[in-house]
Amino acid sequence: NRIAIDSPIRTQAIVNRYFVKAKKNLGQNFLVDHAAIMGIVEAAEVKPGDQVIEIGPGIGSLTEQLLLAGAKVFAYEVDDSLPEILHNELPQKIGDDELADRFKLLLKDILQADFRNDIGDFFDFDQEIKVVANLPYYITTPIIFSLANSDLNFSSLTLMMQKEVAERLEAGPNSKDYGPLTIAVQTQMQVELALTVGHNSFMPAPKVDSSVVVLKPLAEKVDVGDVKHFNRIVKICFAQRRKTLNNNLKNLVQDADKRAEIIEKLGLKPTVRPENLTIQQFIDLAKMIQS
Ligand code: SAM
Repeated sequence: NRIAIDSPIRTQAIVNRYFVKAKKNLGQNFLVDHAAIMGIVEAAEVKPGDQVIEIGPGIGSLTEQLLLAGAKVFAYEVDDSLPEILHNELPQKIGDDELADRFKLLLKDILQADFRNDIGDFFDFDQEIKVVANLPYYITTPIIFSLANSDLNFSSLTLMMQKEVAERLEAGPNSKDYGPLTIAVQTQMQVELALTVGHNSFMPAPKVDSSVVVLKPLAEKVDVGDVKHFNRIVKICFAQRRKTLNNNLKNLVQDADKRAEIIEKLGLKPTVRPENLTIQQFIDLAKMIQS
């Protein structure tokens, strides 16, 4: 019964033994807060037999608790100094299972993942798959979009990210956090904020606080029409978020009368700002403006 990897003492011992230097360019901030890690495991509702993809296991603090909660874990990592540490430091036996029965590591950039090929002989793709991660923050949004647009039929993504990004994901209209990222994500997934974690829960401590967000595919897909066109229109509408919608639309619709007509058709006042529009109004707007 060793002390958990997530305890500061054990983490420090691992750091000393393997001369670990947290690599800033890989977003390495290791969690050393057991309560926060258990918060992630609970938010993901990990139960025995679950198939979990972990992004960036680091020295294994979250991985260990996922395994102890009964999950089978497939991890993507890019730092080639970590496999040795993970294989030595993770519990060699988990209940009746050997570590190798329950854990597999692939040294590969998550943005290059080819899930069915990478994981096909470890996971059963007919069963549900969850993604759980304390993300490398420098690629938070590319990771979310690459997972959302992949062939992975995940049931949930439970992701630790910068608090500020989490706030943008879960924002509603009329708030300063509401914008293109909010809309791109909320048209595909349900967003739930699970917990917030202070920067001192990490080693080394990052500058910002973090939040754990649970994303689940919407039961009913939102029809935005052509996704590329839709996202482009939304981006243009928010190009200068402090100006009116009318002003932002100038580049798209030169004719002032036409712009006024569009805004009126949406049931909006001429002075409306982009952050005042609901997602449905953006969808209607995009359909009125053909590329
Ligand atoms: N899971 C560990 C924890 O909670 O303590 C480490 C989390 S740390 C914030 C992010 C991890 O992602 C690091 O181990 C880093 O090496 C890894 N990483 C960075 N870029 C990656 C990428 N493109 N694909 C997969 N893993 C990556």
